[in-house]
Amino acid sequence: MPDSSMGKSFYQQVVDATPGGDVLATCLQCGTCGGSCPSGADMDATPRKLFAMIAANMEDEVLSSNTFWYCVSCYYCTVRCPQEIPITDLMYTLKRIAVLKGHYHKDSHVPFSSSFIGFVEQYGRSFEFGLVTRHHLAHAPLKQLGKSTLGLQMMQKGRLTLTPERIKTLPQLSAILSEAKRVSAQQEV
Ligand code: SF4
Ligand code: SF4
Repeated sequence: MPDSSMGKSFYQQVVDATPGGDVLATCLQCGTCGGSCPSGADMDATPRKLFAMIAANMEDEVLSSNTFWYCVSCYYCTVRCPQEIPITDLMYTLKRIAVLKGHYHKDSHVPFSSSFIGFVEQYGRSFEFGLVTRHHLAHAPLKQLGKSTLGLQMMQKGRLTLTPERIKTLPQLSAILSEAKRVSAQQEV
């Protein structure tokens, strides 16, 4: 794949690779995104901090962060951002750039992402309880113990369920995902 990043600042690479990404320049650093994020406790930098690091062209620090790998694409941050910054899409951009530049941990980041995709393909939506439990038991079992209280609180508030729920329109979603994979495979040839 040709490298289209030649001569561009890291900030510009991220913006150019994200539809509507130029709005990132208007980030107020208000922190609403991190405050809305269900994966915030696992992230080593909040989305707000990550965006400040991108603005400062701190490429290595940003790409070494685990923040975007823990993003479960819930879009809470995106719908709440006062500047309508496409935060979830920026997380996808950072995953793509990190993979292209070899900045990821093969034994934890990729399995987390694969588990997320697996739940979406099987149920049509993310299953946060299964995702986080599977990941922590495999990579940080002691950390899982510390999450129990938070998990119980989220269940009491209806933010977390013990079993996955399958969407009614799964066949339609499966057809869309199959077509997306076919188009993606064609583009890689
Ligand atoms: S919510 Fe939007 S404006 Fe506020 S810090 Fe996050 S990205 Fe920036
Ligand atoms: S889309 Fe990602 S970054 Fe945004 S709130 Fe959800 S998990 Fe957090």
